[in-house]
Amino acid sequence: MITHSIVIPVFNEEEGLQRLFDRVKNLADSIEKSSDEKCEVILVNDGSKDRSTEILDQIHTMDSRFKIVHLSRNFGHQIAITAGTEWAQGQTVTVMDADLQDPPELIHEFIKKWREGFEVIYAVRKTRVGETAFKLFTAKLFYRLVRWITKMDIPNDAGDFRLMDRKVVNAFLSLPERHRYVRGLISWVGFRQVGVFYDRDERLTGQTNYTLKKMIKLAFDGIASFSIFPLRLATGVGFFTSAVAFLGVIYTLFLSATHQTIQGWTSTILVVLFIGGVQLLALGVIGEYLGRMFDEVRQRPLYFVGKAMGFERDERKISPSKVA
Ligand code: UDP
Ligand code: MG
Repeated sequence: MITHSIVIPVFNEEEGLQRLFDRVKNLADSIEKSSDEKCEVILVNDGSKDRSTEILDQIHTMDSRFKIVHLSRNFGHQIAITAGTEWAQGQTVTVMDADLQDPPELIHEFIKKWREGFEVIYAVRKTRVGETAFKLFTAKLFYRLVRWITKMDIPNDAGDFRLMDRKVVNAFLSLPERHRYVRGLISWVGFRQVGVFYDRDERLTGQTNYTLKKMIKLAFDGIASFSIFPLRLATGVGFFTSAVAFLGVIYTLFLSATHQTIQGWTSTILVVLFIGGVQLLALGVIGEYLGRMFDEVRQRPLYFVGKAMGFERDERKISPSKVA
């Protein structure tokens, strides 16, 4: 029997959960009706501080196809997705957001493509309603920048709404890194991938949890996980400033030989400031990569589970879980 898993990360979504439950329940019913296949929904509570925790438990009692993984604290969107994917048992695993910005009904389309033999089906946003101009601009810039720098074929304007075949899920879960840029990892593993276009809806309730800080972190994770471009850039700037410095040395020696040396306070200060800034920047870039290596070397588990509801395999309950 084929099972389809739907993984949904939840962080402070109390207002929207009921509606989410209704929509996803309908979807699961219609998938099960039109075939003899089953659905399971893994809701990952990423350390919510509002009533989401209680509501999720109620959802599980209302419909046991909805299984809940309560993480021990907030680990972030990308880790929550990974956790849900790890706990999912279906032949396909679809990841979607809890705020219904991604229409669950699109999963029918995903499954159709999956039957045609595709192994990753990702949703590409044709339009996005109700987002600020700033978010749209930064998102556009972000996708293109990461793509250009990493030289990876990460699809533009595609988020984390996608269906993965079991083969892809296993490949993805075998990647042990802590700083997880999930869309990059999925595109890195390969397999037959295809996009499905859709119009992204407005967030129904609550507000985005992606603060500017989180977006910048995601962007840097995306770049740093797949390329050492920032390190190369530091090297390039180093070469450039050295070349300028070399010309400066010749010029200075010439001035001093021809006894034209004068006060020169401004130029001295400018040079000191400039070189100091460039050096600190380069050190910072090296430090970022070093910090990432430190995170990897510690080998900490990706997340901990406080409580899991609805899973058959008892041994996984309340055990520290790790990926790979
Ligand atoms: N989310 C999460 N942990 C976080 C932040 C967000 O699990 O630390 C979940 C959130 O509940 C939602 C999804 O990740 O289901 C996407 O978050 P959001 O809608 O805030 O991001 P946006 O759509 O604005 O990019
Ligand atoms: Mg959203």
